[in-house]
Amino acid sequence: MTKSEQLYEEARNYIPGGVNSPVRAYGSVGLTPRFIAKADGAYITDVDGKEYIDFIGSWGPMILGSNHKAVYEKVVEACKNGLSFGAATEYEVKMAKLICELVPSIEMIRMVNSGTEAVMSAIRVARGFTGRNKIVKFEGCYHGHSDSMLVKAGSGVMTAGVPDSAGVPKGCATDTLTAGYNDLASVEELFEQWGEDIAAIIIEPVAANMGVVLPEKGFLEGLRKICDENQTLLIFDEVITGFRLGIDGAQGYFGIKPDLTTFGKIIGGGMPVGAYGGRRDIMEMVAPLGTVYQAGTLSGNPVAMAAGYAQLTMLKDNSSFYEELNKKAQKLFEGMKEILKEKKVDATLNYTGSLGCIFFTKEPVRDYTTAKTADTKKFGEYFKHMLENGIYIAPSQFEAMFVSGAMTDKEVEETLRVFEQTITKISR
Ligand SMILES: *Cc1c(COP(=O)(O)O)cnc(C)c1O
Repeated sequence: MTKSEQLYEEARNYIPGGVNSPVRAYGSVGLTPRFIAKADGAYITDVDGKEYIDFIGSWGPMILGSNHKAVYEKVVEACKNGLSFGAATEYEVKMAKLICELVPSIEMIRMVNSGTEAVMSAIRVARGFTGRNKIVKFEGCYHGHSDSMLVKAGSGVMTAGVPDSAGVPKGCATDTLTAGYNDLASVEELFEQWGEDIAAIIIEPVAANMGVVLPEKGFLEGLRKICDENQTLLIFDEVITGFRLGIDGAQGYFGIKPDLTTFGKIIGGGMPVGAYGGRRDIMEMVAPLGTVYQAGTLSGNPVAMAAGYAQLTMLKDNSSFYEELNKKAQKLFEGMKEILKEKKVDATLNYTGSLGCIFFTKEPVRDYTTAKTADTKKFGEYFKHMLENGIYIAPSQFEAMFVSGAMTDKEVEETLRVFEQTITKISR
């Protein structure tokens, strides 16, 4: 028995399913999870001492690679001054100012502790600002696990084969309307019926929780237009895409200005941080300035702010970072495409910037319905072979592969080598 297996057995006695977040349990790939001991640069090591090239990067935050010196040093320095004060600090101001400078649509921002909390709060603000209740979300988009967002919610939920969650009152879900990703007509239909009641449209500008699904030309523009015509707010959930597709996120990448934006993952540099921000007139609704209540004992935590600020500063000051990262990712994903073509495998590879995903289906994947045509059993075989050969990817068909700045040609080439072996083996 490996040490991971021993820990998993013990964990299941004390933690539901042995894990603190469902996808980590490796359920959908029929394996038991690897317990992790440490990560450094592009590599992650499990408790049995096996090293892998890390394409999860804590599900996105570790865009610089793990244990980056600049982030690490700032965190240690902050720790020396005390772990938490529950009071205002200088770092919070620096962090807020930096994000407002980097992302043009953000005029004010509030820090929270997770992406879930950021979305939940942004929705409350949108409702408070518009005086309306309904929210439009898209099938297969994940916005954290708050009640009203657990409808057709992608990855974890999708992987488990559970359409919704128990414990969500019907009343919460009735104000959540769902439309099809890349399907403007389905959004227009909702607005014909409910237009005056819709507070906000929330979307992942690149969907990265049903695998990776790109917005088609005109789709995000169309949403902006519908929102403007109906005095509805447009919320970009950039918990994954923020500071991933570029320093100004997906909104900069696609040139669309949302009214509110949520962040998470990368902005914490590996610490638990989320944030929501946007137009000044909307954000002025938030307490203590306005009537929308939102609070947090550990929000803006000094250690977390130090980590996030250090990471964002690194990304900002290194002007060629994204170009180099995306070039590396392109080499990897194009290489994978080439191999799939050569081996004549029924698979689709979607990618943009340093986010990518292979779907085992011959259909182009452009929404939730087409994502679901993927052969998850085939994915399981693929995952197992990749993992056993040192490539650490998400244990689910419906998650993204994250390329980090710590990867070099060496890691890209090694990954392509294992990928080719894997594809050959599973397509026999
Ligand atoms: C991860 C994620 C969330 C939730 O963030 P947590 O920090 O896990 O609560 C919300 N939205 C998107 C797009 C995400 O990828």
